[in-house]
Amino acid sequence: IRVYARVKPLGRRQQAGSYSVDDEEPLPSLEITVPRDLADGFINNKRESYKFKFQKIFDQEAKQDVIFDSIAKPVAECVLAGYNGTIFAYGQTGSGKTFTITGGAERYSDRGIIPRTLSYIFDQLQKDSSKVYTTHVSYLEIYNECGYDLLDPRHEASRMEDLPKVTIMEDSDQNIHLKNLSLQQATNEEEALNLLFLGDTNRMIAETPMNQASSRSHCIFTIHISSKEPGSATIRRSKLHLVDLAGSERVAKTGIGGHLLTEAKYINLSLHYLEQVIIALAEKNRSHIPYRNSMMTSVLRDSLGGNCMTTMIATLAMDKRNIDESISTCRFAQRVALIKNEAVLNEEIDPRLMIVQLKKEIQDLKDELALVTGKQRTSELSQEELLQLDELIETFLKDNDPDSSLDVGADMRKIKYCFIHMKQIMNRPMTSGKKLLSQDTSEEKSSNKEAGEELEKLKGLLQQRDNEINILVTMLKKEKKKARDALSQLNATSAGSTVLEQSLSTSLEESQSPSRCLSLKEAKNLHSSVSRLPFLSRETGRKMSLGCQEAFEIFKRDYADSITIEDNKQLLKQRFDEAKCLGEKLNEVRNKINHLKGKIIQRQIQRAALAVSNPSEELTFDPVEDNLRMQIEEEKKSYKIVYSRFKGLKVEIEHLQLLMEKVRMKLQKDFEVWWSEEAKKLQEEPEMVTSPNTATVYPQFIRSSRHLSPNSFSDTSRDSPYEDPAVKNNSITFGNPTLKTRTPPSSNTSILLTGDSQADADILAFIKARQNILQKKG
Ligand code: ADP
Ligand code: MG
Repeated sequence: IRVYARVKPLGRRQQAGSYSVDDEEPLPSLEITVPRDLADGFINNKRESYKFKFQKIFDQEAKQDVIFDSIAKPVAECVLAGYNGTIFAYGQTGSGKTFTITGGAERYSDRGIIPRTLSYIFDQLQKDSSKVYTTHVSYLEIYNECGYDLLDPRHEASRMEDLPKVTIMEDSDQNIHLKNLSLQQATNEEEALNLLFLGDTNRMIAETPMNQASSRSHCIFTIHISSKEPGSATIRRSKLHLVDLAGSERVAKTGIGGHLLTEAKYINLSLHYLEQVIIALAEKNRSHIPYRNSMMTSVLRDSLGGNCMTTMIATLAMDKRNIDESISTCRFAQRVALIKNEAVLNEEIDPRLMIVQLKKEIQDLKDELALVTGKQRTSELSQEELLQLDELIETFLKDNDPDSSLDVGADMRKIKYCFIHMKQIMNRPMTSGKKLLSQDTSEEKSSNKEAGEELEKLKGLLQQRDNEINILVTMLKKEKKKARDALSQLNATSAGSTVLEQSLSTSLEESQSPSRCLSLKEAKNLHSSVSRLPFLSRETGRKMSLGCQEAFEIFKRDYADSITIEDNKQLLKQRFDEAKCLGEKLNEVRNKINHLKGKIIQRQIQRAALAVSNPSEELTFDPVEDNLRMQIEEEKKSYKIVYSRFKGLKVEIEHLQLLMEKVRMKLQKDFEVWWSEEAKKLQEEPEMVTSPNTATVYPQFIRSSRHLSPNSFSDTSRDSPYEDPAVKNNSITFGNPTLKTRTPPSSNTSILLTGDSQADADILAFIKARQNILQKKG
């Protein structure tokens, strides 16, 4: 197993730990020095340093394309050649596993190994026309020893429990099958990226602040490729697992108690089992490898040891506080590096194709035989030949000459027949033997015996037929089952893919403008996306209330990622303009080529006419036409260049759109979480809040909403609608005014104002929004 290390860039406020990278021969090494002050609680006066060797070490400034080229590309090449491959990222939470495997959600250049590998694989497949390829992808998340199918097309699954549960089945050959994990076909890069995006979205939605699934679960994105040469019976199948493991931090750090502790124990348990498997694999002469202890190791069974090209990326956060975790990550990596793998080709034979091939071979041999013997041979002997043989045998048996021989020629069928016939004669009782030998006397024999004999014969025949029928019935059953399985599989996959298509097409609705081109509308319409909030609309009925909408608008503008959203919008617009430009250029070049073609034809007609009217002049090389052809070639070249740039841009634009959609979903989700929390808080809040600083408003919400809502609540306005005694008291009471007498006191909530005029205005805005909702409901 090849093991690489990647060091994550330090954050701004982080203190650098001390480490150094040496490019020694043959393997580079990473040296980590533990400073004295880290050994808290212990008396530790000597500086300890640890040295670890890696295949290659990528320091902080390493970019995603370099990572792909040196780590993932060789594995992808192997997979294309028919071997299995696995790349897994191991490290503590926040060390950059997801960033490395999937990529950052912000910049196109930040896309990680999965999208780059997909792009590379489909590129290569397209280039190779010698084989027929089919590609499928699957995306599995393992959380608390349970598997979930992330490619579930039902977009609205908002909790992990809503996703289809995947279970492990082991067949009689101890092969692992994952039940309920959908394999979606992807015929091109775009489809595959859409699936990845769907999975990531489901992964994000399934995550709640409570479970923080991303750090506690393993995610396995698998690309399945099968290839076949036309006419050949062998199919090559290979898989590439891209694994984002759970955070490797130890229990001690996460020991919080209750629910979280079970989880912490669990992840560490499954990583612990992974470690055990790896230790067992690294030891020579170990016959038992404890794969079965956890779901993770079962799934990766054929991808860790043995038949696989496996690569590990140890992600390291090298700030002071994480030094010890980094050291344990490196220790794990060193053990992994000891495992030796041997990848073999996964070829299997398609029985149908095999039959066709064998039939052909038989025909060839028959033809050859006919050529040698000069006779066409069928498998059966003719009636005439049989009679002839019977006669021959009879004379042979009757002949008393010891030197007599039975000569039927070099024909296996005849030889076999003779033996069988003689056996029958031998087995018959003497009398009937005589009967056969002397036909004339047989009529006098008792008919009794003959009947008995006939009966025996018929019984035998019956037995034979029974056997045949039995065999046929079993075969029929098998066929039926096969057909049924195939049908249900077909149904399942087609149902899956159509639903998926639908959900994708609805979710990307706006990006599918008529010309199918990459509309900017989607980007601009981030604002109008309010009406499509799936969660909110489910919670509040069909439409969001005005108050909620207002809050969402504000939340959106305050959102931490809003700068990136804007950046991406700009970038998208730029790319889009560029694409448009290129499109125009393409058209131009195409027109030019057509024009040149027309010119050539014209020229040819002219010359042909000339040749007719002036036959003495031979049709020779025409420099003008040649020149035109050369021009066309030039134009074609530039067309190709522009076109490939255009295609690249298209991929980038699509990716950007997916990123935007992802951010948008996250925004909605975060808002929903925040909103429901706020609502809950408001409901649970006692009548008076005692601490003057407890404003139940999202801090960020206050901070930058100041430039947003100057219209309704300016802090200077004296005629504010909330200018009532409660406000002057620095606290405000509100409830449902129309039902005041009947509402129970608990629904009246008081909020102390903060004293900061801007914050207060915002609180009031929120209260107004809330009131709007209450009124709507009432
Ligand atoms: P993990 O999956 O290991 O928990 P993440 O991949 O989510 O960690 O990384 C945590 C944060 O650090 C993310 O915001 C990510 O964008 C950032 N990050 C990680 N690695 C890098 C890197 N090499 N360059 C820039 N940012 C990174
Ligand atoms: Mg992660």
